[in-house]
Amino acid sequence: MKATPLVVLENVDKHFGDLHVLRDINLSVQRGEVVVVIGPSGSGKSTLCRTINRLETIDSGVITIDGSPLPAEGRGLARLRSDVGMVFQSFNLFAHKTVLQNVTLGPIKVLKKSKAEAEARGMELLERVRIANQAHKYPAQLSGGQQQRVAIARALAMNPKVILFDEPTSALDPEMVQEVLDVMTDLAKEGMTMVVVTHEMGFARRAANRVVFMADGQIVEENTPDEFFTNPRSERAKDFLSKIL
Ligand code: ADP
Ligand code: MG
Repeated sequence: MKATPLVVLENVDKHFGDLHVLRDINLSVQRGEVVVVIGPSGSGKSTLCRTINRLETIDSGVITIDGSPLPAEGRGLARLRSDVGMVFQSFNLFAHKTVLQNVTLGPIKVLKKSKAEAEARGMELLERVRIANQAHKYPAQLSGGQQQRVAIARALAMNPKVILFDEPTSALDPEMVQEVLDVMTDLAKEGMTMVVVTHEMGFARRAANRVVFMADGQIVEENTPDEFFTNPRSERAKDFLSKIL
């Protein structure tokens, strides 16, 4: 018996006014799979991520997470948001909360954990992203790479089934990119299900099970990283790779 995929998009379409940003998207992500999404700017990668945790609505099609269709609103939406973690390019930490408070807020408010329990788990997660020694600082006192690792710990604190990463290293100074990719590579090895929008081709080669190439709102090509990078099939992918590699 084939396992049910954790995330399924079927015939998903989305417009912003006249702009057709997602065109008949079909994509399944298996449990434990790492899918890297690449493609030119404006091709719909962020919108794709945002529809999966319902930060954007879709016009037609179906998205299911772990067998349940995306809820429209209400309680179901809060559940979904804890099942689907998201890490953004711009970190989006709470500026007036400490590192540890950033990581414990969701578990206390949404998962109804006690403060002590949330803090114990929060410290474990901060260890895991190698930043426990900064637990009582505020985000502005940290480097970009450190802030992004806190954002990853914050996502993990909700025990998500899948984490979406939208260009998590694009806003970082070059010397900080690797520390964030290392944490993501560890998560991938530990079996976390991940959808990662990135231009970091080294990460894609090392950590991805599958590369999805998008252009103009469509999935143009899907393949293993090896096949995709050495033998892209579409002209769009060849053209894109010639510009970035
Ligand atoms: P990518 O992440 O691949 O760069 P996006 O998903 O951000 O692409 O954007 C896809 C297209 O949708 C772009 O043309 C962008 O300008 C447009 N777009 C994104 N968000 C909105 C929005 N909230 N309203 C109108 N247009 C948008
Ligand atoms: Mg984007």
